[in-house]
Amino acid sequence: MADYKTVRGMRDMLPGDAERLRQVENQARTVAKQYGYAEIVTPVVESHELLSAKAGEEVKSRMFVFKDLGGRDVALRPEFTASVARLVATALRNVARPLRLFSVGSVYRYDEPQKGRYREFWQTNYELIGSARPEADAETLLLTDRLMRDTGLKKFAFKVGHVGVLKGVLVAEGFSESVQAAALQLMDKKQYEEAFRLVKSAGSSSKGIDTLRSLVEQRGTEVQTTVARITEIVADYERSVQAARNLEEILNLVLKSGCTTELTVDAGFARGLEYYTGFIFEVYVPDLDIALGGGGRYDKLIELFGGDPTPAVGVAHGVDRIMLALQGQKTEKPQEMENTIMVVPIREKLKSEALRVAEQLRDQGVKVDLEIMGRKMARALEDADKKGFKYVILIGENELKEGSVVVKNLVKREQKTLEIEQVPDQIKDSKKP
Ligand code: AMP
Repeated sequence: MADYKTVRGMRDMLPGDAERLRQVENQARTVAKQYGYAEIVTPVVESHELLSAKAGEEVKSRMFVFKDLGGRDVALRPEFTASVARLVATALRNVARPLRLFSVGSVYRYDEPQKGRYREFWQTNYELIGSARPEADAETLLLTDRLMRDTGLKKFAFKVGHVGVLKGVLVAEGFSESVQAAALQLMDKKQYEEAFRLVKSAGSSSKGIDTLRSLVEQRGTEVQTTVARITEIVADYERSVQAARNLEEILNLVLKSGCTTELTVDAGFARGLEYYTGFIFEVYVPDLDIALGGGGRYDKLIELFGGDPTPAVGVAHGVDRIMLALQGQKTEKPQEMENTIMVVPIREKLKSEALRVAEQLRDQGVKVDLEIMGRKMARALEDADKKGFKYVILIGENELKEGSVVVKNLVKREQKTLEIEQVPDQIKDSKKP
């Protein structure tokens, strides 16, 4: 028999891990509700054409692409935004704006597996469609701030920027979209010298290169002074100045909202996805040099998918990386012991009664783990003790005749005979102390 393993880059989530994943997912769902985002579910498999339309070379080259049995070119989604843009251009075309949409699920990228980098991972995704105003940009950062806090993370910080600042210079130099995208991609990977070489060979003026060179050195946590320095550097580039003003306005809104999380303004910051047109941000923790989440404004994407020109801003968070960061910061909330009791028939022939009582207790809201191994009572009790149950309900013939059961408290080592209806009240504190 072959020794089966998971495919490279794919992981099992065992009990505990899976529970923590769902916990973060649920926290994200609560945040979505708090901010008015409605949940949608989109397919894991989409057309290759849709997913590669504006994903950027990096993501495109790492997609799981295949032909389905009908010969269609399809791919596993590497992110949610393309699916949302498709919906906004079609089924949700005539729905009143703004639209706030939330999704959560697995996404797939053929990344090199390492700590915090997998080929199948989970994202929570929020898209705010239809507003070009800075309040919308601020909202995506603020909900990220809240989600990070709600998961229990203590130390995290934002990196913020605006693709319009660098783009303004590249546009003024007359570069095509593809040269702009290639230059931003290199800058995103901090390969600045390669980026400067590229724009030089594409015909950039030396002033253009000098401006880009001083821009990528600008970073700081003092929002006002850093943005002022950036604005000064790009003073001759009207579009870049506007972008810097827009960034300043968004960050002022964030600060005025009461957000106290550290913000580092970074003028050389450019995110990997090609579709960003404005404000961009990422969230980091000190002990991991990979982002826990990232987002930004993409005002051109929806028309690219055949929709009306529609401004939009969104953010995606990596659930696996949030879980990693929580482990690292040891702030993980202690796992609540499930509020479950065990029901044990004291004799084999009472199994149908045990099933019936278990159902009756579940009807009353009790979580019940039924003994189904045909074990003798002593063994079943030993097992219940080992697994940490506080209460065991014993089903015996004599008690059942009276509509009662024996409730055994494994911690206090005592037992009582109670009517079945009284059990829920008795075992309210069924967690071990
Ligand atoms: P992106 O859209 O590329 O910015 O991705 C959004 C978030 O997804 C990132 O900030 C990460 O938290 C997470 N992420 C991206 N790639 C991976 C990966 N290969 N493995 C785990 N998480 C990832």
